Formats: sequence, structure tokens, C-alpha cells
Amino acid sequence: MHEHLIQIPKGSILTKPHTLVINEIFHSIQGESSHMGKPCVFIRLTYCNIRCSYCDTEYAFYEGKEMSIDEIMDVVRGYQCQLVEVTGGEPLFQANVHELLTRLCDEGCEVLLETGGSLDISSVDARVKRIVDFKCPSSNMVKKNLWQNVNYLKAGDEVKFVIGNREDYEWSKQIIKQYKIDQRCPILMSVVFGVLEPITLAEWILEDKLKVRFQLQMHKYIWSPETRGV
Ligand code: SF4
Repeated sequence: MHEHLIQIPKGSILTKPHTLVINEIFHSIQGESSHMGKPCVFIRLTYCNIRCSYCDTEYAFYEGKEMSIDEIMDVVRGYQCQLVEVTGGEPLFQANVHELLTRLCDEGCEVLLETGGSLDISSVDARVKRIVDFKCPSSNMVKKNLWQNVNYLKAGDEVKFVIGNREDYEWSKQIIKQYKIDQRCPILMSVVFGVLEPITLAEWILEDKLKVRFQLQMHKYIWSPETRGV
């Protein structure tokens, strides 16, 4: 008799069957992406495989509790909100996230996945909109970017660059050109909060007539920047 083998995507870890380690689930205003401003349920998964210099969710590296996917679905249903974002930490680090993403799509949710771009996105349910946050030089994590992910980007996905200085900005422009990212999906650019002034990035984008969407992390202006669960 053949044993049933579970395929674990490269770089992921496997938790107990049908469970995930969850940092927090909350209902808030989507502060980023093309869905900015819409009410959204956020499911933040524990753990991250990289360490960005400016990380604002370090509490998600270790804090969390094990929840069954059924329990997670019950919490999400309670919010009666059709837009759901799965985030982290790095959500793709836990292999069971794929089961959750598929369950959310089957339930009729519009599902966003915010990933750092260092793990393979090819096995993500095709109905999910991936927001791939490729890491710029000032994150100190450039070497972790998995460039083959560009090949899997589709029109509904988005690529994000978080800019901390002029070097990050020039690097992002070069990457957009090199990988023809603008021909695949919309591009978002935002600043590292508290490091680069938004007006500086806005002026660079206008000077260069760059075809990107400038964005601020809206939730950090509605609530105080340190507030968790928003
Ligand atoms: S990928 Fe996200 S959660 Fe992980 S270290 Fe970078 S900013 Fe923090």
C-alpha cells in the first residue's frame, strides 16, 4: 500500500494537519494596496523566514496560538466581511496556509495574500490576489527575493516596493524594467514609515513619470502607528 505523501512547498514548515499558528485575526480598514479604504478581515500568521531592518510586525515572529482551520473560518464568518487578507509574518512559511486560502475562496471571499516575495507563490490558489512585497536594499534582505515569482504574477496581483532611501528607489526602477513587472500587474510604492518623507517619494515618482501607485499605510494615520490589530 502506498503512503499518502504531503507535498510541502520548498522553504515552508508543516504544522499539525488542518491547523495554523495564528498571531491575530481582526477587522479593520484595509490600509494598503488597490483595496485601500475597504473594510477587511486580516488573518495574521505567526513566523517569518526573513528579518527586514524596518519590520513593524516583529511580534508576529513568535507570538501565536494554534487554531484549526475550521476555528479560523468561524472567526472570519463572524465579521460578515467579504474581503479577507492573509498576512504575517510570512504567511507562506506555514504550508497549511494553502488549505486556508482555498477554504476562504470556496466560501466566496475575495482573498488577498500579502507575502514578502522570498517564498514560491506558484502553488497559491489561482483565485487569490497576491501582493508580493519584493525587498529593497535598505531592508538588508534583497538576497532573499525569489525572482522566479515574477513568472507567476497575473493581472489581479500587485507588486509592492517599500522605499527607505534614494538607493531603494533607483533599485526598484531598475528591477521593474529588468523583469518588465509593469507589463504583468499593478505596482505599488510606499515609504518606510518614519524613515522617508512621503512627499520625497511622491516627488521622485512625478519627476520620473513612473507608472506606479503611490500609497501610504492608511491605518497608521487613522490609528496611532503602534496600535496592533488595526
Ligand atoms: S517580511 Fe514582513 S514580517 Fe517578515 S521581517 Fe520583513 S517586514 Fe517583517
